[in-house]
Order: sequence, then C-alpha cells, then structure tokens
Amino acid sequence: MRITIVKESSASEPRVSASVETVKRFVGLGAEVVVASGAGLASGVSDADFAGAGASIAADNAAAVAGADVVLAVRRPEASALTGIKPGALVIAIADPYGNEAALSEIAATGASLFAMELMPRITRAQVMDVLSSQANLAGYRAVIDASAEFGRAFPMMMTAAGTVPAARVFIMGAGVAGLQAIATARRLGAVVSATDVRPAAKEQVESLGAKFIAVEDEEFKQAETAGGYAKQMSAEYQAKQAELTASHIAKQDIVITTALIPGRPAPKLVSAAMVAAMKAGSVIIDLAVERGGNVEGAVPGEIVVTANGAKIVGHLNVPGRLAATASQLYAKNLYAFVETLIDKGTKALSVKWDDELVKATLLTKDGAVVHPNFKPADA
Ligand code: NAD
Repeated sequence: MRITIVKESSASEPRVSASVETVKRFVGLGAEVVVASGAGLASGVSDADFAGAGASIAADNAAAVAGADVVLAVRRPEASALTGIKPGALVIAIADPYGNEAALSEIAATGASLFAMELMPRITRAQVMDVLSSQANLAGYRAVIDASAEFGRAFPMMMTAAGTVPAARVFIMGAGVAGLQAIATARRLGAVVSATDVRPAAKEQVESLGAKFIAVEDEEFKQAETAGGYAKQMSAEYQAKQAELTASHIAKQDIVITTALIPGRPAPKLVSAAMVAAMKAGSVIIDLAVERGGNVEGAVPGEIVVTANGAKIVGHLNVPGRLAATASQLYAKNLYAFVETLIDKGTKALSVKWDDELVKATLLTKDGAVVHPNFKPADA
C-alpha cells in the first residue's frame, strides 16, 4: 500500500500533510510512503528529514501520485494534479466543498475517492481527527500574537518608575475553539479580556478562562445551540440587540478579535463600520472569519486596512498557516488517526468500511460520482 504526500500547489499554503512522526508511523503500519520533493520545506521539514523517517522522495507530484493508494494533502488538489491516479485511490484533504461542486465533479471524474477532513463528525471517537479544532486553536493563538504585533502598546499593566501602563482591553467575538484559545492567550499576555457568543454553553467556558461574558441573554439566546453544538443563525431582532450591546463595549476596547462562523453559511457581520469608527486610534481588529465573508465591515482578505480614525483591520488569510510547522504537525496527526481506521492491521492493506459514520460523513466522491448527500448534483 502506497501513501503519497503531495507538495501543496498553492503558494499561499505553507503547511504539509505529514510529519516525520506520522511518516514513521505509516511505515510502521507496513505502508510505503512517498513524499513529493520539497513538500515539507515551508513547514520546516526537509526531504532528508522525511527520507530519514523511511519515506522515498519523488521528483514531483505527478511522480508521487502515480501508483498511490492514498494521497494526503492539506488543500483539495486540482483534478488536473490527479491525472493518472489509480481508480479508487483515496484522496484526503481539507476539501472545501461548499460552493465548489464543479471542482468536486472534476475530481469524481478521475475515479478517486475524495474525503473532506473538515466534515469529520465531532464525536469522541473522532476528536483526534478534528482538523477544525486543531487548526482553529492555532488560529486563535496566532490572532492574539498578530494583534500584539500590530498594537503599538503593551498588553500587561506595567507599573514602572517612568509611569503606569494600563492593561490592554481585548474583546473576543465568538468563543468556539479559536475564540477560547484567543482568550487564554490574551490573558497569558496580561490583557483584560471579555468575550461574547450566541451559544449559552460558551458563557461558562469564557468565565472559566477568567474573561467577562458579554451577551444579550434572552429566550432566543437560551435556545441558540444546535444539537451538534454549533451556533444557529440568529434572528434580525436578536442581531440588532446584540449589535447595540456590543457597540458600546467595542468603543472601549483596544483589540477586537472576531472568530464567529456558522457552518455552511457566510460568517455573520458583527462589527459595523460605525463600530469601527467609534474605536480609538491605534486599536486593532483581527477578523479570523475574513475568508468566509468576514465578521467585520471593511475587512479585506489578505490586507491590513487602516481606517480614517486610525484603527487597523487585519484580514490575514490562512492564519493556521502562519504557524505552519505546528499546524502541519497537528494536521498530520489528525490525518494519521483517520487513515489508520482505513487500514486492515492484519493484511496491511486498505480496507475502507464504507458504512462507518466517519467515512459516510467525509466521503465526497466515489466510483466516478459525487456521493455526499449535501453536494450531489440535484438530478443525481
Ligand atoms: P465555529 O468555528 O463554527 O464558530 C466559532 C464561534 O462563533 C462559535 O462558538 C459560534 O457559536 C460563534 N458564533 C456564531 N455566530 C455568532 C454570533 N452572531 N455572535 C457571536 N458568536 C457567534 O465553532 P467551533 O469553534 O468549531 O466550535 C463549535 C462548537 O463545537 C463549540 O461548542 C465547541 O466547543 C464544540 N466542539 C466540540 C468538539 C467535540 O469533539 N465534541 C470539538 C470541537 C468543538
């Protein structure tokens, strides 16, 4: 059984889908591991490191993909990069299926079975495979580091002979995985932290990290969590009340970090241009949702916008990729844990249980067709 690690084709993707540790473990499972030359360089892993772990190095992706039974990637490869793939080979990546149905059909046509790691159910058994959590956790941490780098002041209160420096005020909007890590990181740096979320369960988590919880806690709020633990789309009335509360709070903040997402929908707009205009000069807003439409009015993907009142709106793309080595190490571990479930330990061959709930939830294409119920063409 051959497992291939491709070199990511996008210049804006520095992560890699294997680590020295996971290559060693795949080899230990009896797999032959092939790594495309240079695949790990942007994450601090050389071809020699991978070779030392037992992989063979292919000259390029085409050579690496030919003959592979499993292809591992960070981003969904283009169908053209899978030309010559064995029919029935597995391709496992963060597949970004929403709105990309045409690309899924093209991959289906290659005969590959494509899996989307981000669709992994958030059940106990699959926690170790949860790429949303492993990457969002790092994004939350990095958002605070980026904010501190853009902020011209210190985070902690400092009492010095030359005067007292007040602690920075940091407000985190959306207290999921990224938001909770942002709270913890900002607290470690000594900031005064507050946070909001529409899920009632978030309140206790925010408070247990030592931050103040700010939210409109009405009847709608009490019902605002889906059975899967995600946020619901809130009513226009709730959003208006929430906006009023947050507007006065935001005006007093030095740093605002927004992380609010609703699965399968554009990110909710939480910070209006008027709220940004009410902030002090030198304040910093980090919009972690910028790739999904953004939580902040005026945020531009990939740019740092300086507003007329001197606030900065930071719209960095691929924030986990800004910690490429750590993000790759954790993503590789997520992939390993999933692939291990697809291998028969006795025969050391692939043995996919197509009715396993993890497989059913993540499988997008198989036998030439898009098979996932959420992304199948309407007439299929
Ligand atoms: P996410 O990335 O989908 O969204 C980020 C946060 O934004 C969420 O907390 C969401 O409630 C919040 N949000 C959405 N709309 C908002 C609005 N209008 N205003 C303010 N906040 C808003 O979420 P996530 O980080 O992936 O986590 C979702 C939930 O799943 C959390 O409860 C998390 O603890 C839970 N979770 C469970 C597991 C598990 O294995 N059981 C693993 C990871 C996460």
